Parts: sequence; C-alpha cells; structure tokens
Amino acid sequence: MNKYLVFLEQREGIVKAASIELWNTLQQLAAVHEDITVCGLVAGAVDLHQLRCTLAGKGVLYYTSDHQFTLYNSARYARLVVDIVKQESCCALFFADTVLSRELAPKLSIRMKAAMLSGVPVFDAAGVDSGTVRTVYSGSFMASFFFECPLRIYTISSLPIISMIPSRAQIDYIPLHPLSTDTDEELFPLLRRMIMREGRRDVAEAGIIIAGGRGVGGADGFALLEQLALLLGGVVGASRPAVDEGWRPQSEQIGQTGKTVNPTLYLACGISGSVQHIAGIGSSTVVVAINNDSNAPIFDVADYGIVGDLRRVLPELLGALQNIFREQ
Ligand SMILES: Cc1cc2nc3c(=O)[nH]c(=O)nc-3n(C[C@H](O)[C@H](O)[C@H](O)COP(=O)(O)OP(=O)(O)OC[C@H]3O[C@@H](n4cnc5c(N)ncnc54)[C@H](O)[C@@H]3O)c2cc1C
Repeated sequence: MNKYLVFLEQREGIVKAASIELWNTLQQLAAVHEDITVCGLVAGAVDLHQLRCTLAGKGVLYYTSDHQFTLYNSARYARLVVDIVKQESCCALFFADTVLSRELAPKLSIRMKAAMLSGVPVFDAAGVDSGTVRTVYSGSFMASFFFECPLRIYTISSLPIISMIPSRAQIDYIPLHPLSTDTDEELFPLLRRMIMREGRRDVAEAGIIIAGGRGVGGADGFALLEQLALLLGGVVGASRPAVDEGWRPQSEQIGQTGKTVNPTLYLACGISGSVQHIAGIGSSTVVVAINNDSNAPIFDVADYGIVGDLRRVLPELLGALQNIFREQ
C-alpha cells in the first residue's frame, strides 16, 4: 500500500487553491489505483466547513487550529509533518509548489532522510514504480529521477483542473491535540511578516493574470494592466526586470526565481519569454502574448499572439472588453 500525505497550506485561515487541487488530483489517482491511499494535514485555524465543500475523495485529514500554527514557523510545521508521516507510515509527501514549501520541504528532506524533488508535474510524481520526470535547466531538458529512499517529498508545480464531487467525499476530519512548544523553534523567529496590499490576491492563486515585462516601459505603464486585471477579475504579475526596476513588488514576480503560477488565462504584455520566465507559467491553460517583436520566444509558447505596440494594443483591448461588459 502506498500512502501519500498532502500538506494543505493555509494563509490567513484560507487553504490555498493549489493545495486543494493537489489533494483532489491525488484522490482521482487513488480512485483508479487501489494501492494508493491519501491522507492530509492542515495546520492553523481554517474554516472546516468551507474546506469540506472543496475536498473530494476519501481518507483522513488531520487538522489543528492551534494558534501556534497560524503563522508559518518552519520548526513547528516540520515537527508536525514528521509526526504525521511517521504515524501514517507514508511513502510520499506532497506539497503545492509555493514559497512556503520551497523552504519547508528541503528541511523535512534532511530531517527525515527523504529524497526530495521540486517543481514536478503531479502525475509524474505520483507514478509509483516508474521514475519521476521533470524538466531541468529552466525547461531546457527532461530528466528522469529514480529514488532509493523509502520516503519521497515532492513540491508539485503543474496541476490539472480536476472535476470531482466534494459532496460524495468520505473524509474523516481528525483534530490534533495542542502541541507543546519546542525550544528549537526559538532558533527560527519570525523576522518580518509581509502583508500584501489590501484586496490584492496572490499571483500564485489567481485564475487570470495580466503580466507585464520590460516592454511595459515603466511603473506608469502598468496602470493599463491594472485596469484590465480589474475588469477581468484577475491580478497583475511581472517579469523579473519589471520587479528589479522597482515598477512592481517582488510578490508579483513570476518565473524561476519568482512564483509558479497556474492560471486559466495568462496575458503576457511586453515579455520576451525567456526560459526563466516560462519556467513559472508552464501550467497556464491559455497563454496570450502581446509583443512588438514577431520573433519574441513568448510566441512559441503562446496560444494566441498579438504582434504590436502595447501602447496601441492595450487601450484598444481594454475599450473592446469594456464595451462587451457594458452590453452584458
Ligand atoms: C538565474 C536567473 C533567474 C531568473 N529568474 C527570472 C524569473 O523568475 N522571472 C523572470 O521573468 N525572469 C527571470 N530571469 C531573467 C530572464 O533571463 C530574462 O532576462 C527576463 O525574463 C526578461 O524579462 P522581460 O521579458 O520582461 O524583458 P526583455 O527580455 O527585455 O523583453 C521585453 C520584451 O518586450 C517587448 N517590447 C518592448 N517594447 C514593447 C512595446 N512597446 N510593445 C510591445 N512589446 C514591447 C520586446 O520586444 C521584448 O520582447 C532570471 C535570470 C536568471 C539568470
């Protein structure tokens, strides 16, 4: 029997959509493969009723609303995960690929002597006996990984959209008792809590992203992208130069050294499409690119492309969409 543990990450009491999709995807796999069972862990006070409406499949979900877990603390979180992995004798631990998991997963790997692979597509990771395939060197090559350790840890980057019915779920929600505080966590004090501007959603969680690069030309140029994002119910994202120039906050950076995103629509404005940027958008459903250079590499990955100057194309696009929304 292969037991998989899914870590469901929460922030401000809301479980991340990527974690929910990860759980549901693995549940779909478990429905087909009898030798796979899935259990979950959520740390920090979350709305369990809301969670029940989103999680499908069957299994056990451990949760603790202990205030110690409200904010991320690597020592506390690691201790909790290790306990559950041991208790359930898990052979694989899954995280959505987020800023938190990029820090926590390697620590757990060392602590539990587990093999770890980051940024893996879920079905490749969950393939039990065959090796795990993932891209390396920012998407330039594919590599197969084979593990000798009995325990594997994955952070999952691309998640398919799964339609499972939570109303038929058979999940046992098991509370964990408050844990005593450890001294080692004092070694990892919370230095700074960064709060995004009010009402601003995380790019990693957004369904629609209007991203801008150096071609936007400056911080002011992003005003049109903001308007478009507002109209479509999306968020603004940025390439690294747009962040390095100080036009956008670092929290919006997408790519190899930024965030991995998973939207249904990714609109790339004035972004050339470097491998480092594409590494973060690979699992977008539809990619649309606007660029004045018809040879820009972004057009190789775009489903739709508009060759033109942003300063002309964006106002026209915005105006056309506003008309459509007005008519509705
Ligand atoms: C280790 C490492 C990690 C990196 N990590 C990241 C990362 O996480 N994310 C990331 O984005 N980059 C990252 N980079 C940088 C990456 O290599 C590229 O330099 C970067 O992605 C380019 O950003 P850009 O497309 O905005 O800019 P550029 O490559 O300069 O492209 C600008 C584009 O805008 C177009 N353009 C210009 N003016 C207009 C106009 N008026 N209308 C329409 N189009 C216009 C141009 O034709 C061009 O294609 C990393 C690099 C390294 C070495």
